[in-house]
Amino acid sequence: MTPGKPPGNTPTATAAPAVSLRDIDLSLGRGAARVHVLRGISLDVARGEAVGLVGPSGSGKSTLLMVTAGLERPDSGSIRIEGTDLGRLDEDALARFRGRRIGIVFQAFHLVPTMTALENVALPLELADHPQAHARAKAELEAVGLGHRLHHYPAQLSGGEQQRVAIARAIAPDPAILVADEPTGNLDEATGRQIVELLFALKRDRGATLVLVTHDAGLARLCDRTVRLRSGRIEAPESVA
Ligand code: ADP
Ligand code: MG
Repeated sequence: MTPGKPPGNTPTATAAPAVSLRDIDLSLGRGAARVHVLRGISLDVARGEAVGLVGPSGSGKSTLLMVTAGLERPDSGSIRIEGTDLGRLDEDALARFRGRRIGIVFQAFHLVPTMTALENVALPLELADHPQAHARAKAELEAVGLGHRLHHYPAQLSGGEQQRVAIARAIAPDPAILVADEPTGNLDEATGRQIVELLFALKRDRGATLVLVTHDAGLARLCDRTVRLRSGRIEAPESVA
């Protein structure tokens, strides 16, 4: 440890940003279908900050989110999460790191259909060898208002309830950063507002960092900052204050 630095991973003024992307380039697809999706993306997100990724369809928002979450490796460039360079981790180490430090919420929920709400939320905890996975999962589901739906399967839940389960699953391991791809995209307006409230409670109450892809101007306004993508590049910064 560097002398003079506080022990542990207590955030300090000099702590590494939650997310630090440098010169990310990525092409996807083969042959004539090959697309240069991300073109020289550099972005820092401070700990506890909420950033909204906006931009036209096809501009690379979802891909950038997947790269940030370590689900997609770039062709070149680096991704650091709280100072850890994801490019230096092999697949197993990356999966473990992701499981502990990064929460992911998809537009289409992506729950395991054969597992109950409780089992879905407990799964990442079990994978991370959490000693009380089920108790913790139950507490997280209660926190999102689903204490009465623990043993329901996804198909027995409404869209808003499924997204709440997905949020409970993403936040149960206490991730440093939570990435969400249009988390309100499949929900009606009132339900969407509840989901937004849950995400921002995470930032407020646990100091989590949020990176959200959204088409929703109301959600973008709640973010500390928006980053606009166009054709795989970040456009000039703008303020939403
Ligand atoms: P957004 O989320 O902003 O709508 P995406 O990140 O999903 O954009 O996609 C950006 C571009 O990359 C789109 O033109 C899309 O067609 C292309 N793309 C995404 N994934 C693939 C893939 N696996 N193979 C080829 N092209 C892809
Ligand atoms: Mg998308």
